[in-house]
Amino acid sequence: MAQLNFKTLSFVLKKDQLQVNLLNIFYTKILVEELNQVGPFKLVDEHTLEFTETYQDKAERNFSNLLAKHLDQLKNSINGNKAVYIHQNSGVPLIGHVSFGIVYRNTSLIEIKPVTSCNLDCIYCSVGEGKKSKKTDFVVEKDYLVEELQQLLKFVEEPVEIHIGVQGEPFLYADLIPLVEDLYNNKQITIISMDSNFTIVTKSQIDELSKFKDKLRFNVSLDAIDPELAEKMAGCKYNVNYVMKMIKYAVEKEVKVLIAPVYLPGYNDQELVKIVNFVKELGIEKKAKHPIIGIQNFLNYKTGRNPTRAKSWQEFYQMINELSEKTATKQKLSATDFGIQKTKELDKPFQIDDTVKAIIKSPDRFANSCIAVAKNRVISIPNCDFKKGKKVRVKISRDKHNIFNGKLV
Ligand code: SF4
Repeated sequence: MAQLNFKTLSFVLKKDQLQVNLLNIFYTKILVEELNQVGPFKLVDEHTLEFTETYQDKAERNFSNLLAKHLDQLKNSINGNKAVYIHQNSGVPLIGHVSFGIVYRNTSLIEIKPVTSCNLDCIYCSVGEGKKSKKTDFVVEKDYLVEELQQLLKFVEEPVEIHIGVQGEPFLYADLIPLVEDLYNNKQITIISMDSNFTIVTKSQIDELSKFKDKLRFNVSLDAIDPELAEKMAGCKYNVNYVMKMIKYAVEKEVKVLIAPVYLPGYNDQELVKIVNFVKELGIEKKAKHPIIGIQNFLNYKTGRNPTRAKSWQEFYQMINELSEKTATKQKLSATDFGIQKTKELDKPFQIDDTVKAIIKSPDRFANSCIAVAKNRVISIPNCDFKKGKKVRVKISRDKHNIFNGKLV
């Protein structure tokens, strides 16, 4: 008899299939017929499978092979899109991609990206994320992310801020709280910040996270106070009152909060004063040692949603100055407000125009694009048919900040 217990997986038996859920929102399905080849089995609880007539070693080995095969068909339950699980044994490094893993731009602000996916469909989303997204999603094993980050921090040797800057909503990552706890326990990390739309966070999650309040800061996107306009900007059903309630609750729990609206010309021009007044009412202005509001300029991106034309930086700063005067608040922020410093430069194992031998590991975010791996870096390759394990030659076309794109040669 063998019992197999998994923390990150849960199981649901459905007629002739076992649905395997990974980190809540991702799933794959295994035919009962295939499982029976490992041995007769039953579900002990949602995290535990029991193979009644198979030895432990054999059950572990055979089930893990079966799972690996089916993880290649992983899907995101929010949008039905294909998903890729990046874990210790996936052979995919965590540096090199802009959407998942670790992005180190040679400063004391290091971004980590454990998941891609969003529960909203904001009409201005710079990365075109959300329920209507057709892109492949990624989810990274928490321990793998933490271990790789620790390696990088040993190299950096300076205090850093870790920014959980997900292309999407971080509270969709089931391991978010244990991740924050691991980051918190690392003395080199002095600030943990995360961008969130605050639509799905719960009071109990805020309670849990408030244990880390001396390092933690939420950057909350709140684009309008008017419920109809807020919903229009979110691109789907959206409850601004809930978001505001959760912001107030986080403040009550003394977790640092920065409100970060996107200024979308022609949409929320009249809302910015209301947002500043809402922030003032939170009563955090005097005590806060960090910026409490950071209005962002909407920019046009090729791969984002563009409902309007972006304002120039000059026009944006003029608007910001006027808002500062009208509300008697400081609105213009710079890197110094966040204490961001230059740090050691991380070597690039290859550079623009180099041709490297790489191995294709997974599909990339966009259709007909792949992720290949070489010299412990990930390379994004557009116009590339996915064939797992195929050896290719790639000419590097982007290398900035160890984020690599390349073309097949
Ligand atoms: S919440 Fe952020 S990631 Fe999600 S759709 Fe809106 S802008 Fe995009």
